[in-house]
Amino acid sequence: MKYSHLFGPVHSRRLGRSLGIDLVPVKTCSFDCVYCECGHTTRETTERQEFFPLREVLEELRTYLSSAPVLDFITFSGSGEPTLSTSIGDVICFLKESYPQYRVAVLTNGSLFWRFDVRNDLMQADLVLPTLSSVFEETFSRIQRPAPGIHVAEVIEGLIQFRREYAGEIWLEVFIIPGINTSRRELEGLRVAIEQIAPDRVQVNTLDRPGTEHWVRPASPAELERIRGALGISGLIPVEPIRYELTAGAPMTTEWEEAVALVRELIRRRPCTLEDITTATGLSRREILKILREIQISSGIQESQEERGIFFFCPE
Ligand code: SF4
Repeated sequence: MKYSHLFGPVHSRRLGRSLGIDLVPVKTCSFDCVYCECGHTTRETTERQEFFPLREVLEELRTYLSSAPVLDFITFSGSGEPTLSTSIGDVICFLKESYPQYRVAVLTNGSLFWRFDVRNDLMQADLVLPTLSSVFEETFSRIQRPAPGIHVAEVIEGLIQFRREYAGEIWLEVFIIPGINTSRRELEGLRVAIEQIAPDRVQVNTLDRPGTEHWVRPASPAELERIRGALGISGLIPVEPIRYELTAGAPMTTEWEEAVALVRELIRRRPCTLEDITTATGLSRREILKILREIQISSGIQESQEERGIFFFCPE
């Protein structure tokens, strides 16, 4: 079966062996972040809707999960903001009722948590990973470039409210852009907000692959360490940098066509180096090079030379 809404599974740095669910079309989001790895937001909106028929997504899940694959998480992520989809609550309920053995995670920008229906839709997820990169409207707007009507004070209030209502785990991501949200004032503001939101852990992230804007540069390990110390000053909430370990697990598939589809879906969603693809899929470099050649012939691949190496990206 060809899957339109599922991708992977991949070895995720944060979530282990993870099957992705994408509920929104490329690239639909309430933000247009300067660091986004999926390129510019072409459809910036705060309107929730059912982008794809729910039955289509459930059918794909039934088929995929019928072979009882080993997964650490089933994760809502992909080409935009998953909470824009009004199907997300139904899909989570379906998974928890029909496949309770799988843990469900949601990667979200948190922009819609001020809405009761959005918070309510996520109640049955096991893990929610929202992002907050500044508490100041000016910096927030500069980094996240939100759709009209989204303000950082409401985003923070929504996250605080969600924490009160939600029993699962929250891992808050703070995305660091040196020179933009790294001043003492910025970090102190974030520290206070983190205490109010009270996530289970904070993960400090920085640019790892080409972002949307070329002026965004990654923070050095020393900068990340300073920031980790500043955000975790109280010691009550663990603060950790997201590490880019290149340790590939067992291959996700040994079937050639599945392997091609896996790599194609991976680089269609975000630029990856050879090492990234090896880590995510467990395939060897030789196999990946062969697959990249095949994708190049069938649909074309773009390359971009960056600090970390050559990134491959497959346009729509
Ligand atoms: S990083 Fe996430 S929230 Fe920001 S534009 Fe990309 S998909 Fe949207």
